[in-house]
Amino acid sequence: MEKDKDLNELHSKIIHCTKCRLAKTRTKAVPGEGPMDAKMMFIGEGPGRTEDQTGRPFVGRAGKLLDDMLKEIGLHRDKVFITNVVKCRPVSPEGRDRKPTEDEMSTCTPLYLEKQIDMIKPAVICTLGNTATAYILHKHGLEPGVISKIHGKALIVQDFKIVPMYHPAAALYTNELREAIRRDFKDLKVLLQQSKLDSFRC
Ligand code: URA
Repeated sequence: MEKDKDLNELHSKIIHCTKCRLAKTRTKAVPGEGPMDAKMMFIGEGPGRTEDQTGRPFVGRAGKLLDDMLKEIGLHRDKVFITNVVKCRPVSPEGRDRKPTEDEMSTCTPLYLEKQIDMIKPAVICTLGNTATAYILHKHGLEPGVISKIHGKALIVQDFKIVPMYHPAAALYTNELREAIRRDFKDLKVLLQQSKLDSFRC
């Protein structure tokens, strides 16, 4: 199909991209994955170490938690589109994951994330953590509040809903946050059922 071809071409551009400094330190770029007709998109901050090594989004420990939360509401990760604000791993000089800088985000997002959203046209966008939430809300003229205040609440923007969530990595070490994510996923299930989204079957 033409749309699949366009998305594949975009992902090939991402894989070969050298537009910012992250290209110099990455092992593999991580375009994202999921069906072209996905009704739900999950957006994280940027690839971590395991994602950088494999070229796939959310495949480390945080990804396992995301998979588990999806399973708990009857969704498999191959039914949703999973990606990040930036497509290459932001890494500190000490070799640790770091937040993407403003200029890395402003170089990457118009070329890639925005095009993915335009092509896939998800009905629901779940932003995982502060970076993705602030980026998407700001982009749509909304005040990016702190995640602890706005998580789990659906915001209607143009023709889709934005649901900010805690980042699964934050929940790895904190039971309280893990329970908050679990509750937000349950609410997400209700939202998806109300929206009668085809991709949701339980
Ligand atoms: N954290 C993210 O924000 N994205 C990934 O793909 C993995 C971990």
